[in-house]
This record gives sequence, structure tokens and C-alpha cells, in this order.
Amino acid sequence: MKKEKFTFLNFINFYQELIGSYAKNFSDNSFNMKIVQKNVQLIKEYKYALTDEIWNIDEEQNHKFITGFIKLLKSYAKEYIKDIKYIENILLNNIPFSRQFTIDILQNKHKIVFDFAKDNGLGNDFISFFSIFLAYPYREAAASFVKSKIELKNHVSGFCPICGHWPGISYLTEKEGKKIMACIHCDTYWLFPRLKCSFCSTTDKNALGYLNIEGKKKVSAYVCEICRKYLKTVRIKDESYLYTEKLHAIVDYLSSGDIDIAAIQNNYIQEPILSTINHDSNNSHIKLYLNKLQNKIVTN
Ligand SMILES: [Zn+2]
Ligand SMILES: [Zn+2]
Repeated sequence: MKKEKFTFLNFINFYQELIGSYAKNFSDNSFNMKIVQKNVQLIKEYKYALTDEIWNIDEEQNHKFITGFIKLLKSYAKEYIKDIKYIENILLNNIPFSRQFTIDILQNKHKIVFDFAKDNGLGNDFISFFSIFLAYPYREAAASFVKSKIELKNHVSGFCPICGHWPGISYLTEKEGKKIMACIHCDTYWLFPRLKCSFCSTTDKNALGYLNIEGKKKVSAYVCEICRKYLKTVRIKDESYLYTEKLHAIVDYLSSGDIDIAAIQNNYIQEPILSTINHDSNNSHIKLYLNKLQNKIVTN
């Protein structure tokens, strides 16, 4: 695991540099500030802020960023080299398509993204990984803007209040026993009750538990017997760990694959990392979920 973490850290360092060198791509003009500012209200209604219509992606700048990103992947993600070369050929030769593909990812059109992967023989793991890192700087820029308008450290939600994704990982602070959820898509942290499943909202103590790998007690999978889902959870001393640098959560997420394997072997279900809560008000499932979540928050 140490070696694994080292490789990811190396990749992440160069990735940060890459984002930095294209910083102006991800400035305030890659999204509509007026709409995003208005969307802060959605967070107060337990929805999320980065709605589909906010994106304003420049075709050429996006293409340059993708070119740099693919070059980086070629050196640091060698296990995906076949897929990388394939996607390079498609995206770099078709600038309008590469813009549309970026927008599809930002708008969480997972069916389109996975169909594209399937049609081109790309693995689901690869396309998920590629999508997270391609969209990250755009989402992070918009998320930073939102966070300058609203304080989220004490916000309680099962999913990311900025971009709507389920948490990739969570943290448990030793000092205060706080459960801090982390979004690896936009680098956002928020709170959730410790004794509750973020996926189905149950608070039944008999249904909630955790599993560890022997000798690796720092990372656990918090499991739910009702919906069979689990959330990777890392023990940390206090939350200052999270705010020292960006992309902490993504490194922890990527370097804790062992616990995913253990959870899946025990028949727990991994929530696909690209999946989001759908807050379309006509969706009865989400209505029920939001009602349940809000009731539980009030009664707890
Ligand atoms: Zn997010
Ligand atoms: Zn559950």
C-alpha cells in the first residue's frame, strides 16, 4: 500500500502542476457565476449547486488541457496505456467532440460516458478514472466559488452539496468523533451523523457496522446491512489534516483499494464512483430520500 500511495502521490503532484499551468481555463469564466451564486440556495434546500446549465467550456482551451492530461497519463498510468492511446486518438482528433465529452461528464451523463466506453472497448475503471480527473479542475473552480459564498463545514448531507456525487471516502476524527464526508470530484468536505447510513438513511444500530483488514486499522469500510452499501472511512487525528492541501481525499480514495476488495468479498455493494444523487423533483425516489434525510436530521 505504501508503494501504491507513493505512485499516486507522484501522479497527483504532476497533475496539480498541470492544472496550475492551465489555471486560466478553470477560472470563473468556465462556469456561469450568476447561476452558481443563485444555486447556493439549493444547498440550503438539501440539494446541490452545480446544475447542468452552469458550464461554459472553451473548446480550444479544453482541448489543450486534455492534450496535457493525456500526456501525463501516458507516463503515470501505464496500466491503462492501451485505453489511453485509444481515447487520445478520438479526443485529440475531434476538438468539438472533446468539448462535448467534457460537458457530458460535468453534467453527470453517465449513460453517455459508459456507452462511449463500451462502444470503443474502454474499461469502466479507466473511463471513471479519466472522467474524474478531466472534470476535477472545472468542478473544483466552481466549488471554490460556492464555498466563498456559503460555509459547508457544518453542513449535514449524505451526498456532496456542491456537485451531487456520493462521498468517495469519509473521515472520522479521533478527538471529536466527527464524521466528515469527502467528495473526490470537487474537493469538498461536509458532515454526516456517525451512526447513520448515508445511502439509505437507516439509523438502526444493529444494521450498521464496519470491517477492517488485519493490521490495517486506519482505513475501515463502514457497512450497512439494509442497503448493503459501504463507505470507506479513514481515521484522522483532527480535521486540520483535510485542509492542508487539495486532493487529499482523492489520494486516500485511490490508495485504499484493498478495503474495497474486502468489502466486495463480503458481499457489500460498491457505489459507482461517478454516480450522483438525482435531485430532479419529479423523481419519487429522491423525494423520499430527501424527506427521510431531513426528518432524521431534525429528529436526531
Ligand atoms: Zn462534489
Ligand atoms: Zn444503508
